[in-house]
Amino acid sequence: MTFVKFTDLGKQYLILREEILAKFDEISKQGDYILSDEVLKFENNFAEYCGARFAVGVGNGSDALYLSLMSLGVGSGDEVITAPNSFIASASVIARTGGTIVFADVGYDMNIDPDRVEKTITKRTKAILPVHISGRVADMESLQAIADKYNLFIVEDAAQAVGARYKGKRAGTFGVSAGFSLHPLKNLHVHGDGGVITTNEDTLYKRLLKYRNHGLRNRDECDFWGVNSRLDSIQAGIANIKLKYLDRWNERFREIASFYSANLRDYVSVPEYHDYEEPVFHRYMIQCSKRDELKNFLARNGVETKVNYPIPIHLQKAAKALGYKKGDFPVVEKLSDSILSLPIYPEMEDEHTCYVIDKIIEYYKKI
Ligand SMILES: *Cc1c(COP(=O)(O)O)cnc(C)c1O
Repeated sequence: MTFVKFTDLGKQYLILREEILAKFDEISKQGDYILSDEVLKFENNFAEYCGARFAVGVGNGSDALYLSLMSLGVGSGDEVITAPNSFIASASVIARTGGTIVFADVGYDMNIDPDRVEKTITKRTKAILPVHISGRVADMESLQAIADKYNLFIVEDAAQAVGARYKGKRAGTFGVSAGFSLHPLKNLHVHGDGGVITTNEDTLYKRLLKYRNHGLRNRDECDFWGVNSRLDSIQAGIANIKLKYLDRWNERFREIASFYSANLRDYVSVPEYHDYEEPVFHRYMIQCSKRDELKNFLARNGVETKVNYPIPIHLQKAAKALGYKKGDFPVVEKLSDSILSLPIYPEMEDEHTCYVIDKIIEYYKKI
């Protein structure tokens, strides 16, 4: 039986094996593992790639968001607005600062709805944390207008959107800062955990450089209590290699997505875009009827799929104290019952994409 994996990280490694092993060897011989030139090189390359002035390598994508919020002074008594249809880190980083998580529902593009954001603003609102879900940039023009009107910070959760464009600009250049993840499941990934922050603000940049390194000004002098959250040299070396291929890979993500959409449009709801958007399809998500039955049918036929995410964050046990209940965010709740993420990765073979399409069509013709 054909087996189509949701993703296949080993394939990418085998393509880049020589380059990665040589880099590992080079860095290991130097023995410069922490905050080395390799990390600085990645930060410069990444900032340039995004079109941002600065980038700061950190331990993971969650810390990229957390350090951004902390460096902007978000803390106890401050409210930060985000979307409940995300990986839990989008919300947990707010809680970690001591601030209050405030959710706003999304639109049918699955991204936070600017009108709903505006309705949830209070005197305590300090920041908006839009998530570019599945690699599609949120409506940044409207969010920017709201942020300007109420004097709020925007910190982009760009964890899923490396390389994505909106009106010609890349994710990571809209907010005062943005957090990216280099987790193995993201379009640009390292061989473990990793993250990176982008910003155009000089003072924020300098604060972040200290924050990720214990608040140290230099080896011996500490300016404030920081954390240890650094991208290490070996991961930076791998990221430097992979960044060169990212545009090609993202193009391939889009190619597979178009192929899925062209063939599945008559059977399920496929993602539709404005021509000023250039998503990167970290996830290719359909919306469909009888989702769980379809998912089981595909599993029985060797196709691995996932649901991103089946339980909205406001309904998680961890969120109980926030006082939200079922029915509070109808769009997100409806999506959580109908979305399905199909296998997609740059090295995916066309015959596998065809197989997934055939099986989905077979399922809907049968019922
Ligand atoms: C992956 C992800 C994160 C967290 O990134 P890590 O590197 O795993 O800490 C945050 N937000 C979103 C939307 C993500 O997909």
